Order: sequence, then structure tokens, then C-alpha cells
Amino acid sequence: IGAVGVLALGSLTACGDDSGDQAGGGSGKTPKIGVILPDSSSSVRWESADRRFLKEAFDAAGVLSDIQNAQGDKNAFQTIADQMITNGVTVLMIVNLDSGTGKAVLDKAKSQGVATIDYDRLTLGGSAQYYVSFDNVAVGKLQGEGLVKCLTDAKVEKPAIAYLNGSPTDNNATLFKEGYDSVLKPKFDSGEYTKAADDSVPDWDNTQAATIFEQQLTKTGGKIDGVLSANDGLGNAAISVLKKNNLNGKVPVTGQDADPQALQNILAGDQCMTVYKAVKKEADAAAELAIALAKGERKETGQTVRDPEGNRDVPAVLLTPAAIYKENVKDVIADGYVTKEQVCTGD
Ligand code: BGC
Repeated sequence: IGAVGVLALGSLTACGDDSGDQAGGGSGKTPKIGVILPDSSSSVRWESADRRFLKEAFDAAGVLSDIQNAQGDKNAFQTIADQMITNGVTVLMIVNLDSGTGKAVLDKAKSQGVATIDYDRLTLGGSAQYYVSFDNVAVGKLQGEGLVKCLTDAKVEKPAIAYLNGSPTDNNATLFKEGYDSVLKPKFDSGEYTKAADDSVPDWDNTQAATIFEQQLTKTGGKIDGVLSANDGLGNAAISVLKKNNLNGKVPVTGQDADPQALQNILAGDQCMTVYKAVKKEADAAAELAIALAKGERKETGQTVRDPEGNRDVPAVLLTPAAIYKENVKDVIADGYVTKEQVCTGD
């Protein structure tokens, strides 16, 4: 019961070992690449990982870059894009806030001869030349499998599951759900598990997530045995509510992004697992494609993803995510994604 894909590693604790880091190399000339990140609140990754790794990749290649953050504001997103185009970027890379406004930005860039890349989130119906992300259905599958593993370990019978899905305007949230549904729906259908609640969190808003989870708990009379949370921010919101009810550590919660806070939650036993996505690889792949586009070159990515709304296959790079449990938190540190100091606060 419950297939799980976990890297089983040595017995060193996350907080007892050391880690290393690497930098890129290489050189190039003059192209200017604009990047628009979505916000700083739905996940700490955008400012703490993506910005850092993208900047390092562009700097290492000797290309100019302008990385900005729309802070969740769709008008600001458009304004930043317009300014970047006016300022002569050769390539525009975006993490859309929703497909509609993302498409408007991509189409405008295209009409001005600016090459475009969808970074992490696919813009449905959009016109980006490339899409660089992780296999997001696989991310969701790891979450579903993780929850099953933690519930099995805890020997919970006929567990009642609550879903805290990502933003309905983020195509990734749809793909994550597709992944965890593929694991959990058969269990709901067979009666092995029950579904207690299923809500999406607008814009991945962590504050709203806590309110939504509080309502889920009330609605079910406290009968929630496991939380399928689509990312660490939402998961931490659920954990804060569980704490108030003295239920933390008793109700497994999933996550995604390997946030320092989530890794602490995992080590404390309050969070079941997270999904680590090596953002450095994503940033490096996107930077490489951006630099090629800036030079007027085309690179083969070897795969495509279907944009069901645009009715086209978008050349894509899709990286592989990894499940992180207490035992392998140290791998995330060893990969240079977070520091030991960020994770090991208490001991
Ligand atoms: C990203 C996740 C992130 C979420 C909220 C998704 O599109 O893939 O890594 O946690 O957005 O920002």
C-alpha cells in the first residue's frame, strides 16, 4: 500500500552535517534579459532562490539583466513589462500572475520583436517561445504519495483528508492537483480514505489559507486526519491553525518548495514532507535559453508541453522534483538551497 519515492540516505542528521555550494562560469556579450517575478508572499522561493540563481547565471554569462517583482499586482506586472520593453530588453522572462494578463504581456513583447520565456508557470493561450519548469504533475504525485506514507506510518484508519489547493489562476496548481488526485482519488473511490474538504487558495495567499483551513476544521468538527497542502506557505498556515488546536504533529501536512520554515516544521515533526525543486537548475536552464534567444539562436529542448488553450506544443524543459522527509532534509542543505543556520535554529 502507498508507493513512495524517497531517497533513502545515510544516518547523518540534517543539523549535524556540512554543505557545499557551486557557482557557474563562462562569458558572453551585451544581450539584456528582463525577468518579472510574481510576488514575495506566495512563496519565499521567488526572492530567496529564483532571483539569486537567475542573477548568478546571467552574471556568469556576462549578460545584462533586470529582475523585478510585480508583488502580486497585475497592473504593476504590465507596467514593468512595458518599461523593460522600452528599455530595450532582448528577452522577457515571466512568471505570470494569471494566464490572461500573462498573455497580454507576452503578446505585446512579441509584437515588439522581444523573445519570451514562460518561467515556472505556463501561460495558457500565450505565445512564449519556451517553457522552463518542473514536471508539475510529478510534484503533485510526490505530495499525494507523501501524505499516504505519513498516514500509513501513523496507522490512521480511513483518514479524512482536506485539500488546500494552490491558486485557481495558476496552471501549476491544476497540474499539482492532477498529480495528487492520481494517488488519492482511487483511495476516496474505494472508501479507504474520505475527502473532508477541498478548497483552493486565491493567489496562494497564506493569510487566507489559514482562514480557509480554520473553516475546514470547523466544518468537519475537527475531523481532519491529513492535509494535502499544495505548497509550504499554505502548509505552514495550516500548521499554525493545528498548533492553536493542539493538533500539530498529529495531522500530517504536505508542502512544496523546501522553504526554511517548512524544513524546520519537518524536523519538528509538524510537517510530513515537502517537495524540493532544485531552482538553481531551473534558473540555469532558463538563463541558457534566454541567452540563446538573445543571440538569435534556437535551442532544442527535446520535449514539449501541450498548451490546451493555445492549441500548441510549447518547447519545454521540465526538471525532476524530489520528496523530502525528515531523513533527507540534509540533502537540501547539501545542495546549497538553504543553509544549515536557516534550518537548524533550535539545536
Ligand atoms: C510554483 C510553486 C510556488 C507557488 C506559489 C507555483 O507556480 O511552482 O513553487 O510555491 O507557485 O508561489
